[in-house]
Amino acid sequence: MEYRIKTDNCVYSMSAKNKPALTVPMGSTVIFHTFDCFQNQIKNDKQEIENISWDNINPATGPLFIEEAKEGDILKVEIVNISIADQGVMAAIPQAGLLGDKVKKSEIKILPIIENKAIFNDNIQIPVNPMIGVIGVAPKSGEIPCGEPDSHGGNMDNAKIVAGTTLYFPVNIEGALLSMGDLHACMGDGEIMVTGVEISGSVKVRVDVIKERSIDNPAMEDKEFIYTIASDEDLLTAVKTATQEMHKIVMNKLEMSYNEAGMLLSAVGDIEICQVVDPKLTVRYKMPKSIVSEVV
Ligand code: CA
Ligand code: ZN
Repeated sequence: MEYRIKTDNCVYSMSAKNKPALTVPMGSTVIFHTFDCFQNQIKNDKQEIENISWDNINPATGPLFIEEAKEGDILKVEIVNISIADQGVMAAIPQAGLLGDKVKKSEIKILPIIENKAIFNDNIQIPVNPMIGVIGVAPKSGEIPCGEPDSHGGNMDNAKIVAGTTLYFPVNIEGALLSMGDLHACMGDGEIMVTGVEISGSVKVRVDVIKERSIDNPAMEDKEFIYTIASDEDLLTAVKTATQEMHKIVMNKLEMSYNEAGMLLSAVGDIEICQVVDPKLTVRYKMPKSIVSEVV
């Protein structure tokens, strides 16, 4: 059975209070249809970004309730595939992002997607690398706006969250409540102007629950690498958390001492930036699977 959640089931924050859009058993495949981060309000470059509704920003489709997921478990989410629409949007906004202090006037750029390339201008075509900006579960308490990343996931803007990636989240409440949105046709690490090539689309995932195991922060794997992910207002604190999480995994999986595992990380691990423009900054710590084959 294939399940689907349409965009009329969208949330603006991740919270235990959100009513499930759909309930499925573990092992299910579910397609999430997603708006872009502007809730598809921008159709052409004549629009003024100041005139869109800022109450409808960063919608995430969901949440999905997974029957077997209980507090303290791990939710496993395999990204089976990501389809994107035929047009993406970017923006330059005064005061937004690393270069915003000198942006005098806002500007919108529409990027047609043709034959798997985003048309940036007459001379530059960027191969697409469809990724998910916002994906996460409900936090234990409170509401976290979908524009914010944290240990529940959320707006991690991690360019490695693509088809073929498997994510792991802490389950904070029964059902986990998985939501996602904010696809990008492509995005550079850092997302320095606060937009990737924002685009609507759909994501097919397979959800599973790993019982009696727990993690404190999201983790991820692809064909070649495992990653830990951490977010914080302070970049170095985020880096430290992601590093400590990977260090724990390496000590555990390879049965190494604290020092030995530390030296191994220092020899082959990579600190990578996801984004530096959201309310918290997100990093990932990467290790090759040839050294450590599993992340959980
Ligand atoms: Ca985002
Ligand atoms: Zn985005």
